[in-house]
Amino acid sequence: MNGIREPARACTHPTSSLFEQLVHASVDGVLAFDPALRITLWNRAMERLFGVRGKDVIGQPLLDVFPFFRAIGEVPRLTGALAGEHASSHGLPFHVPETGRKGFFDAHYGPLRGEMGEVVGGHVIVHDVTAQRRADDRATETEERFRTMADCAPVLLWMAGTNGECEYFNQVWLDFTGRTMEEELGIGWSEGVHAEDFQACMDTFVDAFNARRPFEMVYRLRRHDGAYRHILDNGVPRYTPLGAFAGFIGSCIDITDRVEDDTRRKELVTQLEGALRAREEFISIASHELRTPLTSLKLHTQRLLRWLSPDSTTPIDHERLERLATASHHQMVRLERLLESMLTGSRLANEGVALEPMAIDLARAVRDTIERFEIVADAAGAELVVVTDGPVEGTWDPACIDQILLNLLMNAVKYGEGRPIEVDVRADDPRAMAVVRVRDHGRGIAERDRERIFERFERAVSSNEVSGLGLGLFIVKRLTEAHGGHVRVEACADGGSVFVVELPRSPASINPPAPSRP
Ligand code: ADP
Repeated sequence: MNGIREPARACTHPTSSLFEQLVHASVDGVLAFDPALRITLWNRAMERLFGVRGKDVIGQPLLDVFPFFRAIGEVPRLTGALAGEHASSHGLPFHVPETGRKGFFDAHYGPLRGEMGEVVGGHVIVHDVTAQRRADDRATETEERFRTMADCAPVLLWMAGTNGECEYFNQVWLDFTGRTMEEELGIGWSEGVHAEDFQACMDTFVDAFNARRPFEMVYRLRRHDGAYRHILDNGVPRYTPLGAFAGFIGSCIDITDRVEDDTRRKELVTQLEGALRAREEFISIASHELRTPLTSLKLHTQRLLRWLSPDSTTPIDHERLERLATASHHQMVRLERLLESMLTGSRLANEGVALEPMAIDLARAVRDTIERFEIVADAAGAELVVVTDGPVEGTWDPACIDQILLNLLMNAVKYGEGRPIEVDVRADDPRAMAVVRVRDHGRGIAERDRERIFERFERAVSSNEVSGLGLGLFIVKRLTEAHGGHVRVEACADGGSVFVVELPRSPASINPPAPSRP
């Protein structure tokens, strides 16, 4: 700028010096002023920038042309330049009233010196940053719009950089976890992942990240209230406009309700399948059980018909006929008992129990049942021993008590291997209960089966070994519970099992019918 010695002139002079040509070729605006702040140079870039021609402003007071200089506080920089100082300002707004031009510029101020080094004026190099500023504003606006959208979206959002570390979480995520952005950034977020899901979650993330491919995964994430929720996380790689990998972005939704529904549905399906299987098994066992006495009955009848046929050569004597009739009767009783069990089992499962309680002596009732049962125990070669210590008074349904005991005695004979069966009935006065124990010395019951054998159709033996419908103990349990009592089985120290039925003695404890299971 030291070279400007001639009087000020406009930029279009046809005989411009090399130096002037350079000044006018500059893409940045160049403006010079004298000590009175009058414009002495105005290059073409200034014309382009501010829409004011050089010939119109040369010699004009700079602050008349640029009144906004005062408003933006740049006057001291102009006077500073005249005092020999250099200064810069960035991102200044401008507005030229004559042309209406608006924008932003960076300005660099400095003095102009004469041959002796004395200050003869000042200069301003003006760099137009309007386009850059608008681009920045657009980027800021886009960023703000993204953040507003991200915070309003009904999903949890995260963004990771190229190193895999998370660098952004939306407000929904922060509200969900109840943690701050600082706590979540990097790999802080993984502290909230359930310990059991942590490894799988990390593996999926790292594998997808390395392969730059989308992923979908479910893991449990701790919510602000400490509850772990099932989160479905979808991540996709993101790229810059030039196609460079920029990291990942992911969105998550809480699918806990869906997962719980699915689990409930699966449980229900498993239960239903179990019930169907049990029903199928029951039908096959029941058919087998019913066929056995029916086949015997059929054979007995056929034999009788043969004997009665006119062609028969077999002499019929009274003794043979009686044996045949007795055998047929036994099979019919067996059939009757089977059908009764099936009907009672089904009634108890579907309708519950309608009790007819009355004051009775339980010890007496048990002895009566045992007396009737002795013939069956004898046939099996099992000795029956009853122990009571006086009357046990209470209010119970006698028919139910009889059924409970008959079923337990029947099992003691069936599974007792012909060994003695002991029954004892006692009052447990402190608890106002009556306790009946039926003990056998047979095969015993494995601990794992001791609960389930009280359910419908549940058995701990195969039907090839010992026949049965799996209903006896179910009936015992239902009838006992209907009286407000309970039944359990324990192992005997010397082998075998003891079934313990505990019944409250007062009618107040009698329960309404129990709901059935499928
Ligand atoms: P069922 O005898 O017709 O199979 P229950 O419901 O009476 O049906 O008994 C269920 C299962 O409990 C039996 O299949 C058997 O495995 C087991 N069980 C019952 N009582 C005894 C017992 N006294 N000793 C050994 N096992 C028994």
